[in-house]
Amino acid sequence: MAPTHVTLYNASFEPLGRVSFKHAVKMLFREVAVVHEQLGDRMIGPHQWPKAVRLVRYIKTHWMYRPAGYSRAGVLRRDRHRCGYCGSQAKTIDHIVPQSRGGGWTWQNTVAACSDCNGKKGNRTPAEAGMRLRETPYQPTRAQLAVLPG
Ligand SMILES: [Zn+2]
Repeated sequence: MAPTHVTLYNASFEPLGRVSFKHAVKMLFREVAVVHEQLGDRMIGPHQWPKAVRLVRYIKTHWMYRPAGYSRAGVLRRDRHRCGYCGSQAKTIDHIVPQSRGGGWTWQNTVAACSDCNGKKGNRTPAEAGMRLRETPYQPTRAQLAVLPG
């Protein structure tokens, strides 16, 4: 079975985080990366199954440390698919300041939430609903999102 994640190394051999197995294989076929560490004897076309891949060309790591572009999937990933209020598994996104009250789709105003908490909070702020955020939402860097699963 394919691993879910593959470690990504820079051409300078510094680890850059993780990418999905699928993404790593694409990088091999696009010839932007080579197998750094192989996984068993299996092959995908001309390539060994990667446990780690290494970029062919050095990239300045700075881009990894730039803020990640906003996405709902990114919010779930940043919050490790855990509800920002109760910590159980989260599949929905809650607007801390509700959209109806001007709260936007931003990293700071959205958290992963389970449907129970999302429903309970409704159209209120956490303070109004008597709910407390477990962590203050932050704007992650690309590197932070890259090393988080899923
Ligand atoms: Zn919850």
